[in-house]
Amino acid sequence: MTGQIQAVRGMNDILPADIGLWQRLEAVARELLEGYGYAQIRVPLVEHTELFQRAIGEYTDVVEKEMYTFKDQGGESLTLRPEATAGIVRAIIENGMLRGQRHKLWCVGPMFRHEKPQKGRFRQFHQVDVEAIGFPGPDVDVELIALLARLWRALGIERVRLQVNSLGTPESRGIYRAALAGYFRAHASCLDADSQRRLETNPLRILDSKHPQMQPLIARAPLLSEHLDAESRAHFQALCAGLDALRIPFEVNPRLVRGLDYYGRTVFEWVTDALGAQDAVCAGGRYDGLIAQLGGEPTPAIGFALGMERTIELLRLASAQGEGPGPDVYVIANGERAGTAAFPLIERLRDALPRLRFELSLGGGNFKSQFRRADRSGARLALVMGDDELARGAAALKPLRQDRGQSECTLEELPARIEAALRVS
Ligand code: ATP
Ligand code: MG
Repeated sequence: MTGQIQAVRGMNDILPADIGLWQRLEAVARELLEGYGYAQIRVPLVEHTELFQRAIGEYTDVVEKEMYTFKDQGGESLTLRPEATAGIVRAIIENGMLRGQRHKLWCVGPMFRHEKPQKGRFRQFHQVDVEAIGFPGPDVDVELIALLARLWRALGIERVRLQVNSLGTPESRGIYRAALAGYFRAHASCLDADSQRRLETNPLRILDSKHPQMQPLIARAPLLSEHLDAESRAHFQALCAGLDALRIPFEVNPRLVRGLDYYGRTVFEWVTDALGAQDAVCAGGRYDGLIAQLGGEPTPAIGFALGMERTIELLRLASAQGEGPGPDVYVIANGERAGTAAFPLIERLRDALPRLRFELSLGGGNFKSQFRRADRSGARLALVMGDDELARGAAALKPLRQDRGQSECTLEELPARIEAALRVS
């Protein structure tokens, strides 16, 4: 029993080599969301299974086959959250936060779905989740999309496209549903097994099928836009006009239905052509009926979830290679006395220059190998302390990314000289 234990399939370690990208995404998202007036909320990773069954809908991929559900020691059926909206809605109802109030909330963290792991699709993945509760729109629909357009800009991500659609009201969707079921029933022999099942339970979901065999049939299916009620149509037109006014390019995709049952009216998805088959980076929509369905007073709401792993891949493609968060200053101590003196000196420099990152060449080694380490660290500046310099009360600075020579200064001058050297390098 000495074999190596591996991580659970589809659940990944996020290693230090990647952490800079994650932190950048988190920092940019957080700053932007705060700028738009969103407050962070943190809800449990585990909820009662019934919450997701009721919120997401019985006949969805997520509830039918993707949930991590288990009985705890007390015999209760619990589920690792596959998405965040249901938990957030439960929390605001339970904490008495509705009562005609409006909330702009965001949340970040892991989600769990038992899907087939592949590139861009994992069993533990992460989302930034944003919810505007108590806003009937369409102004807030436009604002949320504008926020995302700004997020891509701030991250330097260009290869994303926006698709929008309207799912209408439950009533207009009911009429459409019947028309759609009629159409697919007439072509029942062409349906794959999944779609045949969907025909009885949830024919709209057939439109979401990724099965290649299904695509021609889906392409000729009747469109929801032909069955929209007047109010939903006006809402959708206002959304499109709002996006036009902000010069945010979008495509109307009349077959965009989204995987979760609680959506109505506005739905949108940002897709990319840079990541192969898993092309959805961020998706959302209105869920005006959900809060009442979960026992709260009827309250309109809209939200989206951004897939962080896929966004990180786009960020990796967009950002200049290798710009990791290396140290600013790499400290080389050459000689025994210098090795001992370096520690307190660096601590004093950290006090004097708290925003800078210092890395001390730990573990010794000769001068040349320490310089190699300094170079590999990505630091812009080396601080060289040798026994000889120290005897004079001095140290040397050497720019590492420029062809400039080493210069010496007294230990007292060091903080100012380091700042000056980093300004020009
Ligand atoms: P997909 O069509 O890719 O299955 P979805 O419609 O199930 O996505 P949502 O539930 O709307 O996705 O989640 C929003 C975003 O979260 C997706 O656009 C995607 O970027 C990301 N996401 C969803 N499932 C996974 C997963 N298993 N692994 C990694 N990211 C995921
Ligand atoms: Mg999915």
